[in-house]
Amino acid sequence: MAEQIYTIPVNDAFDSGCECPVCAMNRELENNAIEYTMGPSYMEDDNRALTDKMGFCPHHTRLLYAQKNRLGLALMLKTHTDKTIKEMKELAAKGPAPKSSFFGKSQTEAPVVEYIKELESTCFICDRMEQMFDRYIDTIFHMWKKDPGFPEKFRSCKGFCTYHYGLLYEKSSDKLKGDNLTSFIDALNNVYFDNMERVNEDISWFIDKFDYRYKNDPWKNSKDALPRGIIKTAHTIIDN
Ligand SMILES: [Zn+2]
Ligand SMILES: [Zn+2]
Repeated sequence: MAEQIYTIPVNDAFDSGCECPVCAMNRELENNAIEYTMGPSYMEDDNRALTDKMGFCPHHTRLLYAQKNRLGLALMLKTHTDKTIKEMKELAAKGPAPKSSFFGKSQTEAPVVEYIKELESTCFICDRMEQMFDRYIDTIFHMWKKDPGFPEKFRSCKGFCTYHYGLLYEKSSDKLKGDNLTSFIDALNNVYFDNMERVNEDISWFIDKFDYRYKNDPWKNSKDALPRGIIKTAHTIIDN
């Protein structure tokens, strides 16, 4: 099975102790995609053609800039802007979309606006991550069925963020059936709600610690309650 290639990253994510192993997988994919983009690959014609065409979303542009490979980023932006200037000039020259006579509203967008909407919806890094992410999710279901140790690992992880709980819930009915599906949903619900309640209590104690009456009490597990609560609610891993 193709999924077997991906059991190592999936196991690593479930072993990571992250408040959401799926967020941990996504972060790993993002780090790899950023490294790949800024590594020697930016000199390869195939990749350059893709980055020229797709560009990068605002979030990933920020991460690329933080990599400090200023020459690599400049080279990518140069050929990307060469291409957009050339293509957009041609489309801009075509002018606005013609108005339909009856409603006085454009039936279609201006060609240049259509081009920009398409460009804004693509990102070389998002695209690279999404392809792998779907395989990782499939691997979770594959391991649930085939790997005898995995269900226990799944049940004892720190739960999931709300977004990925929903994603696993949704995909499970396509990927599993019968007893496998029932036991998966049961485990997913337990691990999600138990751990949401745990983090909810950590946040509650974090708030109490601002009260002078608890000033000298121990922090317990609440010192990092905010970044962990942010993973649960916003599927975002905050770097310290
Ligand atoms: Zn998540
Ligand atoms: Zn992106």
